[in-house]
This record gives sequence, structure tokens and C-alpha cells, in this order.
Amino acid sequence: MKSETAGADTPTACSGRVLTPDGTIEDRSYDLLEEIGSGAAATVWRGRDRASGREVAVKVLHEEQVGHPKAVARFLQERSILLSLRHDNIVRVRDLIATADGMLALVMDLVHGGNLREYLAQRGTLPMGEAATLLAQVADGLNAAHVRSVVHRDLKPDNVLVDRALDGSPRARLTDFGIARVLDEPGMTTSGAVIGTPNYMAPELIEGGLPGPAVDVYALGVMFYELLLGRPPYADQLQSTILVRHLRGAPRKRAGIPKRAWAVIQACLNRDPARRPSAAALAVDLRRLALESAGVASLPRLADDIRGAGRRPRRVALSAWIVAAAVVVSGVAGFGGRHLLGGYLRNEPGHAARPSGPAGAHAASRPSAPAASAVAATPSPAPSASARSRTALPGGVGGSAAVKLPPVFGAWQCSTRIAYAGGNQGALVRPCYTTGPAVRIKASMLGGQSGMRVDLTVALHDADTDAAVATNTCPGLAPTQAAPEMSCGPFDHQPPHGHRYVVVLSWKYYAPTPGGSARGEVFSW
Ligand code: ADP
Ligand code: MG
Repeated sequence: MKSETAGADTPTACSGRVLTPDGTIEDRSYDLLEEIGSGAAATVWRGRDRASGREVAVKVLHEEQVGHPKAVARFLQERSILLSLRHDNIVRVRDLIATADGMLALVMDLVHGGNLREYLAQRGTLPMGEAATLLAQVADGLNAAHVRSVVHRDLKPDNVLVDRALDGSPRARLTDFGIARVLDEPGMTTSGAVIGTPNYMAPELIEGGLPGPAVDVYALGVMFYELLLGRPPYADQLQSTILVRHLRGAPRKRAGIPKRAWAVIQACLNRDPARRPSAAALAVDLRRLALESAGVASLPRLADDIRGAGRRPRRVALSAWIVAAAVVVSGVAGFGGRHLLGGYLRNEPGHAARPSGPAGAHAASRPSAPAASAVAATPSPAPSASARSRTALPGGVGGSAAVKLPPVFGAWQCSTRIAYAGGNQGALVRPCYTTGPAVRIKASMLGGQSGMRVDLTVALHDADTDAAVATNTCPGLAPTQAAPEMSCGPFDHQPPHGHRYVVVLSWKYYAPTPGGSARGEVFSW
């Protein structure tokens, strides 16, 4: 995805294989015209589909995130959640693209009006009628997600796009389901981790509870306050102070907010999630409020009397120590707080939600005893210092001399392939090979049908006849929260020399879900 014009660092185009919403895989190219947004996970570009000329938004996963299996798994999940939520108030996703150099991007409909934070910054505050109308639309979008058991978890003005309806009136579209949770599937957050944006975080999240739909309703209440007064109720420079205020509850009523609007805000910010309204009920209340307050002028923006009130709130993985300290200071260490402290104090500070590195995840997901069913196949460790030390030194030279040894095996050659894994799930697969005294092969799969077991088969094929010359199967793999990437291999083979080969990964689910296969690059041995 690097620049197609040599020398420049910023990408100008994005070309590669895309997975379309109906599961076909095609080659496509998008020009990246202008950066229009950036957040914790990705940079978003205004782009153009070269084939159709249509303008699109291209959300490119940050380069440093691509090596983290959990970040990639979240990105793939964001696509499948968005595909399952077709709604006027939710942004529409199109293609998933993987480029030859391993970058990942989501292609979405372009929303021209920017996000609600930018919209609010231009206006200072919004009149009650407009705020209630926009948030009723957000509540409609949330309701569509909640009925499908999806909790957004990161609702804030940055993640609401402002589109124009046909009559020119603003229309809210929910975006960024990057940390969304599907309620009946195991979550992808490290247990004990608190991810979110402190200003919008419901107290039960801070206490380490599971995020239910009510956390989105809470964040919507915070946004209503913010749209009316220009900043959220518990703004502060210190994350811990914000968290303490959420835990203590009871935002201060400001002059000028009509009683009915205040009642809606208070209901959303109720300390008890069970007593907050549903998104559907909230949409009705907000529409009624919008009708009643047509023509009511906007309120003056609250003075920035609070440190840090004007800064853009960012999504963070909160340090366990900050969260634990907030619970202690807030004096709410009742059952929830004690449970939380017990949980957090077992975690290392500052590592609450950092995605684990690729090496660790790899090791964790490696099958303990892969069933190798190949002729002359030996499961072998990756090329290592110990492998090199077994190499005979040329001419019997002693070990102390500075002799440069040729590596026994070359570096792994891995292809990143995008695959359709059934339903609307996309997967990233990586068939890899390296050559030396043997042909060494391995493969991995990331994404796909969550919670299901799968058999992975890594085979070496003759590239010209397509006949399998060696096959290894790793049965019964299942991605876990800690290790979403499933790996099979490495295995060594001794196929005849002088031929062209290719590594083929195939997968088969323990369910009536279609399997599939992906091929790496052709190589000679
Ligand atoms: P992150 O997960 O990194 O926060 P987002 O999906 O929230 O990424 O996108 C970051 C920003 O990019 C948004 O706040 C918004 O301003 C802009 N943006 C995202 N998607 C679109 C889109 N489809 N059309 C227009 N702008 C968008
Ligand atoms: Mg965002």
C-alpha cells in the first residue's frame, strides 16, 4: 500500500485482492486522495475506486497493528459486524482489501459531512431540537445493533458521521465498530482489560463488568449533554478523575437545560444499567423531545473551567492501576469494586489490553501434536541459532574463528491472502515456505467463523501438475481470545528437485460451513 510514486512515504493508492460483501475475491485498486480521519486503530482516506470512479472511504489499519493478531481479528470482525447491520443510521461497508505488502483496509461508503465532533466544534453547541433529532437517529442505529446482540462500546461524537438526507437535513450514521462486542460470542478483549474512551465510559465497564447494551445508552446520555453544552459532563485532564466521577454518578445540572431533557440525560446516566432505557425507548423519547423543543435556541457553551475539557477524548486501554485507584477513591468498592480490584491486581500494570505480539500468539496457537500425514515430513523448529550451530564448519575451522555461515534455511516467504470463510466472515491466511536442506512449509489462519473448530491442512503441491506431494493436517484447531491466529507447521519435506512448488492451505469447519483453500507463491526447488 506504499506510494506508487517512488520516494514518498504517504500512500497514494491501495491495490490488492478484495473480499466483496457477497464473498467473491477480486483484484481492485483505489486511489487514496486525502486523509480525512484517524483514530486508535486506523487512518481513514477519501478514496476513489479506479474501476467505477466512485468515491469511497478507505479505512487503513495502522501499520504497527498489522502484526498483532488481535488487532487484525478485530478489524475482520468490524467488517462482518457492519455487514450484518444494514441500517440507514449505520455506515455501509463494502470491501475488505489486503495488499501484496500485507496491509489491510476496509472500504466503506464515504460520508461527506465529517464526524459529529467536528460538526459540534463548528457550532459550539446544538439547539435542543437538532441534538435530540440526531441522537434519536443514533439510538435507532444502536437499536439495530442491540437487537442483533451487538454492543458498540465506543460511542462518542468521533464515531458518529454526519451525512445529509435527501432533503438536506443532517443524518447521523454510526461508525467504528472496532471494539464492538457480540454478546453471544466470546469477547476479544483480554480479560480484566478496560478499553474505551474515559469520558463516555459507563460505571459498570470501569468496574470490570461485561459490556451490555446499556453501556451504549450511557454513552448516548453523555453525548446528549455534550451536544447541548459543548463538553461532556465529567471532562478533566486526568483519566482517573473522570473515572471517579462516572463511578460516583450524579452529573451537575446546568442552568438552561429544560427539565424533560435533563430527565432523559439522568435516565441514560443511571448508575444501575438495568434502570437505563433501551435504545428503542430512548429513540421515542428523543423524538418527542425534538417535537416539543422545535425553535428553542441553543445554550451558550460551558466555559472551559475544567482542565482538559477542550481536548479531543481518545480511546485508550486503561491502565489497571488507574482504574483500581479510581474505584478506591470513588469509595464504591462494594461487590463490583472488590471483584474488580481482585481481577486487576492480578494483571500487570499498563498491560491491560495491549495486543499480544505475533510471536507469542503464534506459539500459543501452535498445535501441541500436529498429525503429520506426509511422506518424510518432520515437524521442525523455525530456523534458529541452534540449527546453525549444528552446521559443519567449512574446512574444519574451529568454532572461535569469525566465519560467516550460510543460513541453513532462508527467511520464511509468506503470502498474505484474503479468504472467504463462510457467513460474512473474512479471514487472513498465510501460506509460507522456506528452502534449505529440505522444503519447510507452514501456514496460519486468522479470523473466520469465531468459536468454531477447524481442521487446517498444509500441503505442498507440484505447481505444474497441481498434484499434492506432501500433506500435513492439524485437526481440531480453535482460535481463542488470547491467540486468535491458528497455525499449522512447520514441516520439512524432501520432494524431487528441479520442480516448481506451491504451498496450499485448506480449511474445513466442524459445521455445515463451507471450507476453502488458499495458495502461496510458486517457487522452485
Ligand atoms: P478508529 O477505529 O481508528 O477510531 P474510525 O472508524 O472511527 O477509526 O475512523 C476515524 C475517523 O475517520 C472518524 O472519526 C471519521 O472522522 C472518519 N471516518 C471514518 N469512516 C468514515 C466514512 N465512512 N466517511 C467519512 N469519514 C469517515
Ligand atoms: Mg473512531
